Amino acid sequence: MRISVLFILFFISFAGLTQSSKPDNKHCILYLQKRDVPLEKPQAGDWLYHHAEKGQTFEQYVQSKPVKASALRNTIYILPIGNFTKAEWRVVQFTADYLQLFFDRTVKVLPKTEATMVLPAQRRNPNTDEEQWLTTPILDYLEKKIPTDGVVMMAMTASDLYPSPDYNFVFGIARTQQRVGISSLHRYSDSELDSTHYQKCLERLIKTSSHEITHMLSVKHCIAAVCLMNGSNSLSESDRRPNRLCSSCLHKLQWNLQFNIPERLEKLAAYFKRHKLQIDLSFEEADIRAIKE
Ligand SMILES: [Zn+2]
Ligand SMILES: [Zn+2]
Repeated sequence: MRISVLFILFFISFAGLTQSSKPDNKHCILYLQKRDVPLEKPQAGDWLYHHAEKGQTFEQYVQSKPVKASALRNTIYILPIGNFTKAEWRVVQFTADYLQLFFDRTVKVLPKTEATMVLPAQRRNPNTDEEQWLTTPILDYLEKKIPTDGVVMMAMTASDLYPSPDYNFVFGIARTQQRVGISSLHRYSDSELDSTHYQKCLERLIKTSSHEITHMLSVKHCIAAVCLMNGSNSLSESDRRPNRLCSSCLHKLQWNLQFNIPERLEKLAAYFKRHKLQIDLSFEEADIRAIKE
């Protein structure tokens, strides 16, 4: 009788200890794996319907000699190009705040660069008749301008982009080995962008820019589960994709950047709460609950 009471007391105290101590990164990945949702069969129009992708396991990622942050190369640079409205500029600043938490790195926003400095080739989009910039000369420019302590450099613009004449448009694009990329917020506003209606634009820009920068850290498109790193062909497909890395892609990023997963989840949840991004917050909170189970 006394032994069983002692055993129960020991069990209660042990359970209390494990509940209060934070799980380590390895265990977090295992808990979060249970929350991964398998991809559905792609339909016509979806990215995977038109692009046969092979995916990338964690082991393949590590063996690929990926671009890594280091003590000397540790800052993420944002280069705004062209003109921004006041509201668009706020979204760029909020996105920089987000990327700092997402990658657990210092993010510096460089002074705005005039479009004429980058000399982007322009065209009128055949469908919208709006001006568009070709991404190639912009990426060439970034390659020459990346600071020595920059792990990656991402340009941001409010102008519409296209990567080559056969494309209608592109939200963002990266040159992974060269560690440069560009994201546009041109197509991200459903309504007039102002100080109170910026959430939709922010929700979309943080997804595109974190997706592109994760590519620059050599993470390929994901076919393991529903994931931020899935390819996407359209705004509706990108909107359907949750702002959540699957456990495999999170594992790659954590291995590269060495952040603490529970702390990162808490910081991202606080960010989503602050900006009232309810859908993103619900995914983050569910992940936080999963690692505490
Ligand atoms: Zn991509
Ligand atoms: Zn993934």
